Amino acid sequence: MSVRLLPDSLIDIIAAGEVVDKPANVVKELVENSLDAGADEITIDVRDGGRTLIMVVDNGVGMYRSDLEKSILRHATSKLPTDDLLDIKFMGFRGEALPSIASVSGMSIETNGLFMDANSGRIIPSPHESGTCVKVKNLFQNVPARLKFLRSDRSEMMSVSEIVFRLALARPDVSFIYNNKLRLGKEDDALARFEIIAGQDCRGKMVQICETDGEIKISGFVSTPILRRASSIHQYLFVNRRPVRDKVLAGALRAAYFDVMHAREYPLCCLYLDIPSHMVDVNVSPSKTDVRFLEPSRIRDLMVRAIRSKIGESHSKQDSGFGFQRSGLQDVGCVQPHLDLEVNNTTFQIGDFESPQVPVGNQLSLPLGFARAQIGSKYILAESNNGLIIIDQHAAHERIVYEKLKKGGVLRQQLLIPHVLHMTDDDVAAVLDVRSDLEDSGLVVERFGETDIAIYEKPADWDMDWPECLKSVAAQVRAGGTGNSLKEALHAKLATYACHHSVRAGQKLSLEQMNALLRQIEETERGGFCNHGRPVWKTFSFDELDSEFER
Ligand code: ADP
Ligand code: MG
Repeated sequence: MSVRLLPDSLIDIIAAGEVVDKPANVVKELVENSLDAGADEITIDVRDGGRTLIMVVDNGVGMYRSDLEKSILRHATSKLPTDDLLDIKFMGFRGEALPSIASVSGMSIETNGLFMDANSGRIIPSPHESGTCVKVKNLFQNVPARLKFLRSDRSEMMSVSEIVFRLALARPDVSFIYNNKLRLGKEDDALARFEIIAGQDCRGKMVQICETDGEIKISGFVSTPILRRASSIHQYLFVNRRPVRDKVLAGALRAAYFDVMHAREYPLCCLYLDIPSHMVDVNVSPSKTDVRFLEPSRIRDLMVRAIRSKIGESHSKQDSGFGFQRSGLQDVGCVQPHLDLEVNNTTFQIGDFESPQVPVGNQLSLPLGFARAQIGSKYILAESNNGLIIIDQHAAHERIVYEKLKKGGVLRQQLLIPHVLHMTDDDVAAVLDVRSDLEDSGLVVERFGETDIAIYEKPADWDMDWPECLKSVAAQVRAGGTGNSLKEALHAKLATYACHHSVRAGQKLSLEQMNALLRQIEETERGGFCNHGRPVWKTFSFDELDSEFER
């Protein structure tokens, strides 16, 4: 067989396979070009799932004749003025999209008084005055293999919509009109757009976050644990305003919710990471949705910190209306009845305690108020100056037990015979990298020869498949994470432990016991949610009650 250089036409089709493997990607490339051209109004029309027509019209700077001619040549771009691939200021930079799309469709470009048939390269005058209109007809008509693999018009259309949503969230400063149905104006900010896209049930249930670490900033909003989805569908992540799918960010999001949401449920978010361009590589895949960070763990830590500091307080703020600020309430700081919560032996009962020496009047001003009654042997009814609060006694106690367990540190137990585990060099290095994290979680490990790890101590109170656990830690570290999978595994254990040792629904409580429970939950971090993200209490303000009773 002789070696031959492939003809340009074939090279374009091969490149098209990577850049535009479905209609949604064509839409993405064209809209990104419009954004790069400085447009602030973009109109997108897509017919038959993109098979027959894709049209993107913008009011950007457009192109002059010589640029128009060059725009459909391979690797022709106006966006890399220097040769520095780590200094990328535009959505595009590879100069591949237009030639790739033209090679698999009937494409035309109208811009600044010119019309170009992109397939023949012929240019004629056009009445189209400013901005650019790109039309793509009969996509993949000349590539039957690709055409065969297109899904139904409906599902291709869903992918297209998803791309439009992502770009509209990435750039709330730009108006988008999509198929004449979705109209997002500049007055619709990111949150308003998000509510339109993700559903009205998000209203009032998203919390703003904003946190920085040096030149790195994370901002946007995330759902309170009460709002979740069965898939990651409404998780929108952006790096320097570029929509991305990234393991580091997705992992950080999961980690941030790990003890307030079930692993099979997903929080909603719209998060913008702003990072100096030299700290991130976006030239990882032709579609530019993958990124690589210079310091993944720094980003992960920032994101986890930013989210956790907000979702802890969100429930109390939203549902109770007065938050958990104890300032101004110091005079009742003597309210310290204790629930008997022994951590290392298993008596988790509301034990004997002094009945709280706090007058009812003072307790009414506390966040969860004064317990008046128990109903159904599972709910506590409390009165506060603000109104009525209903507390789920099991969920409340579960949270208390769990946070105590976590705070108490993990009791370690020395193994009589160290457990030796064979791993690859890389895995050994990865595990040693997070040795101190592991120790915090109760696992003491050392290198044992070249390719073995020995476990010397393990958490005392529970058993799990530690070797398996270490392997998953290694895999996670190598993918840019920290020793968090161990933490998550431990969390699962803690949660079951907490659940089994908490006050059950069905258990009768005295008034003193109920009030003791309320005071404890007020002191507990993330007290608003049980370990599975269910709410612990609900508030009905006097205002709400009055309006219910038409007072
Ligand atoms: P890239 O975006 O990576 O540069 P493309 O093939 O998508 O590559 O586009 C090639 C060039 O055509 C761009 O660099 C830009 O100069 C020009 N161009 C494409 N679309 C537009 C548009 N909508 N408005 C103005 N210029 C455009
Ligand atoms: Mg482009």
